[in-house]
Amino acid sequence: MKDAEALKERLHRERGIGRERLAEMVKQKQEEFAGLLNEQAAVYAIAKEHGLAVVTEAPVLFGKVAALDEKSRGVNLLCRVKRIYALKTFERNGKPGSVVNLQVEDDSGAIKLVLWNLEAERADKGAIEKGDVVEIRNAFVKPALGGGVELHLGMAGTMRRSERKLERVAEGKAPEKIGKLADGMLEVDVLARILELGSKTEFERNGKKSQVASLVIGDETSTIRLALWESVANCFDRLKVNDIVKIEGGYVRKGRDGANELHLGWSGRLLLNPRNAQIAERKEILNVPLVKVGELKPGEAAEIKATLKGILEAYDMKTCGDCGGEVGEKMCLSCKSTNVKRRSFLRAALSDGSGEIEAVTYGRNAMKFVGVKKIADDIDFATVVTLKKAELLGKEFYLMGRMQERKEKREFSVESVIS
Ligand SMILES: [Zn+2]
Repeated sequence: MKDAEALKERLHRERGIGRERLAEMVKQKQEEFAGLLNEQAAVYAIAKEHGLAVVTEAPVLFGKVAALDEKSRGVNLLCRVKRIYALKTFERNGKPGSVVNLQVEDDSGAIKLVLWNLEAERADKGAIEKGDVVEIRNAFVKPALGGGVELHLGMAGTMRRSERKLERVAEGKAPEKIGKLADGMLEVDVLARILELGSKTEFERNGKKSQVASLVIGDETSTIRLALWESVANCFDRLKVNDIVKIEGGYVRKGRDGANELHLGWSGRLLLNPRNAQIAERKEILNVPLVKVGELKPGEAAEIKATLKGILEAYDMKTCGDCGGEVGEKMCLSCKSTNVKRRSFLRAALSDGSGEIEAVTYGRNAMKFVGVKKIADDIDFATVVTLKKAELLGKEFYLMGRMQERKEKREFSVESVIS
């Protein structure tokens, strides 16, 4: 009843509705509901109609992480999310399940929070991001496997993002710019655009099946190769060129070619199209404009997005493994080396509605174009292309390269197969 009195006061003060007028309105409201509303409920309804925020919930009392023990039940906490681990999926009794672990902290300490199924998927899809302040309600504590305790939401528990401030808990760093990444950096967050999709490879390590997927990402400062390991690579098939991604908890390592690479394993995660994310457009990052096939200018670097209409030529070329020169019968015509290597060649017709163009690709690019990583020694490239043809025709490609005019014919020389 005290709340109703306070609302009457506010209706008078903030909306200019006097006592008598309000009493009439309450009576009217009660009649509207055939006498089913008591006075308090009627006052609430009127206050709501007049745009007054009505707090019907009792204020939550938040506990402290440091005060939790194995017996804690009905735990309410106001925390900052320090880390979110990759989503893991499993099967239990024939039913699929998923789990996401988080680390949350308040000014008294940090604790592991375990989310299952729906809550896990919500967090995985970006409802919760590293650095967010969250309200945890009605959670419970369990002994953790490695000692200590961990927090579970269970059926009755909830976790929601909060606008409240947590002043005594550090906010964490803003995402790093790719141009600032250096070999050996740990715990790196990056916001970037997907520029190029590589491939996913499955392998065995110590008798355990594992996988790695690779792609190229960029922001306005630079570009970098990104490797996704184990369960993080599960999302690879859902990724598309130009998607915005947030990498949480990655690490930087020098690759075989000496360039820095960003790696992401089980202790981090990839967030697809995170909220409020702003990132430079693809053409600003690559400095290569996306051009309509009909508007390509000779010699200018460009990217095209076009559909495969036909495969015109596919064969293995022979090149010198030492100097890259032309090979005769069995020997290099320039350096006389007998180290002969084969190189795939593909000529294809593509169109984007504005025109048609012939694209030529060599070596790795030709293989990537048809979607293979390796070709066995006893199979020629033409055979691979014949087998793949049906699934390739009609497919859309992003290709980077330059158009050249040869004998009145326009030819797009591919420097990079983006996807
Ligand atoms: Zn040679």
